[in-house]
Amino acid sequence: MDKIKMLTPIVELDGDEMTRVVWQWIKEIVISPFVDLKSEYYDLSLPNREATKDQVTKDAAAAIDKLGVGVKCATITPNAQRMTEYSLTSMWKSPNGTIRAALDGTVFREPIMVKGISPLVPGWTSPIIIARHAYGDVYKDVEAICPKGSKAELVITANGEEKRVLIADYQKSAGIALGMHNLDSSIRSFAKSCFNYALSKKQDLWFSSKDTISATYDHRFKDIFQEEYDENYKAAFEAAGITYFYTLIDDAVARVMRSKGGFIWACKNYDGDVMSDMLATAFGSLAMMTSVLVSPTGKYEYEAAHGTVTRHYYRHLKGEQTGTNPIATLFAWSGALRKRGELDQLPALCSYADALEKATIDTVEEGYMTGDLKAIFHKEGVEPVALTTQEFLHKIADKLATVL
Ligand code: NAP
Ligand code: MG
Repeated sequence: MDKIKMLTPIVELDGDEMTRVVWQWIKEIVISPFVDLKSEYYDLSLPNREATKDQVTKDAAAAIDKLGVGVKCATITPNAQRMTEYSLTSMWKSPNGTIRAALDGTVFREPIMVKGISPLVPGWTSPIIIARHAYGDVYKDVEAICPKGSKAELVITANGEEKRVLIADYQKSAGIALGMHNLDSSIRSFAKSCFNYALSKKQDLWFSSKDTISATYDHRFKDIFQEEYDENYKAAFEAAGITYFYTLIDDAVARVMRSKGGFIWACKNYDGDVMSDMLATAFGSLAMMTSVLVSPTGKYEYEAAHGTVTRHYYRHLKGEQTGTNPIATLFAWSGALRKRGELDQLPALCSYADALEKATIDTVEEGYMTGDLKAIFHKEGVEPVALTTQEFLHKIADKLATVL
């Protein structure tokens, strides 16, 4: 069989620990036999981030901006313990944070659904995609301890003029304060990314915030979304037969629980952080959740939502076979290859990506999976079998070979 040809390379961001091992296996077992893979490789493993003083992360982000599509392996975000473990000279920032900031993107997280793994919410028959704003708010705040008797104020200076707003008087008790911000430009990019993604998926878009309580801050988000919708997207939404809908976050939560799924839920940074973990768990597993960062100018970075699976890596180093679930990482690759195929007009590459995903889902539905899924799999007439990562990937490759 002739291998499928590519035109433009995909930006490949390698990572750490068990996911780095699984990364190689995915390429060897389910991609390279079928696709003449072209990639521009960046090694984002912690040792190489240390060796390059994190320049490699910035270079990788610039490459995605240039080439348009990237795929990223999970990476370690250093903490105090990792500083010692890897003899780091600095506590390098989260690569995801650096790339999100560079691309000014929005993160869309979508559960992968298979028959046999039922969402904890029985009514959810279609995936719910979370769109998380990836800039500002509490993730870029300043915080302070305020001793008893002190006073905290917000000071805004513009053209030499000072405006002061009292936050709190700490007369009765010591306390705490925080200052956070966002930018109209970033909120507008967030809105555009969400509207574009909804159009590309042909799904309704919901946006929620707490504008009743946060009458200036959250209200600004609501206004910018509405402006963008009215001025730039209303006609396209109507033509596509989809709707944009704003509601308060508490109302949104209630509606989400009662819904059937099949829509995109745009959330502010913190709401998206918390709600995406809730949705991933409720849909079955973090190992069945894909994540794509979309910039307002249409650059895409695909990744798995889980981490580097450290505990499995230590077992792997001792020579044990592990059943690390490769599905989310495999879907990051298929997502990136499909997008590359769309942009370069290579229908064979798009079909390969579709076939890879279908082969993966069919393999699980026939009862072959990693141990994490076996524990939650219930399907009439199918007795699930737990495989190692490599056995599972070979099963998928066999199926793929017959389809292609
Ligand atoms: P994790 O790597 O997601 O793993 C937590 C646990 O979840 C694992 O021990 C495993 O449970 C289960 N799990 C996660 N993914 C799995 C998979 N594909 N297959 C099977 N089981 C899976 O989270 P963590 O241990 O908190 O973090 C490890 C490292 O990842 C940290 O250094 C963190 O900085 C990094 N991290 C990176 C990203 C990213 O790059 N996007 C995101 C989150 C965390 P059992 O051990 O019970 O089998
Ligand atoms: Mg989180």
